[in-house]
Amino acid sequence: MKSICVFCGSSAGSNPIYAETAHRLGVLFAQRQIRLVYGGGNVGLMGVAADACLGAGGSVLGVIPGFLKEKEVCHTGLTELIVTRTMHERKQIMEERSDGFIMLPGGYGTLDEFFEILTWRQLHLHSKPTGLLNVDGYYCALLAHVQRMSEDGFLKKANLSLIVVADEIEELLEKMEQPLNPSTPKWL
Ligand code: AMP
Repeated sequence: MKSICVFCGSSAGSNPIYAETAHRLGVLFAQRQIRLVYGGGNVGLMGVAADACLGAGGSVLGVIPGFLKEKEVCHTGLTELIVTRTMHERKQIMEERSDGFIMLPGGYGTLDEFFEILTWRQLHLHSKPTGLLNVDGYYCALLAHVQRMSEDGFLKKANLSLIVVADEIEELLEKMEQPLNPSTPKWL
């Protein structure tokens, strides 16, 4: 993977471990020459990951909708910045420009972006790995709910494995480089 999209909070979270992890991810991407694709913001974990990657000599592509750029929450020192008309267009460009996707801790926006990309995978609109970094167990309750979705008949058991999970970034990248688990089409 030469280009990975990271979805994460526009807030830093209450535990410093979240920002520390976003920082480590940014540095690791630079060291491994993986381009960081993200939402283009200068705030929260988004800003931390972008600054860390740039600071370590890495390449960062921001994809931000015009209305957010106007609010001056946009990072001004990125390698490349694409300004889109809509949130929908932003997601589409993020998908096109990335070889895989990682979700770090975040809120509604982060979950929205990750689950939409996961849904596209389930619909066979792309075949790229979707990883979840379970920093300090932040997503344990979410993963338990995903299990419940399967048990209660709303998610095919085979598609549980579409979410690649790890506690550490290096381990997550390694798992995401493995051959993909086949996705069972939603319509079967
Ligand atoms: P959340 O997980 O709710 O903090 O949302 C993260 C997502 O919120 C981002 O990917 C964007 O869709 C949006 N967002 C919020 N603030 C900014 C910002 N300053 N720059 C870019 N996107 C932002």
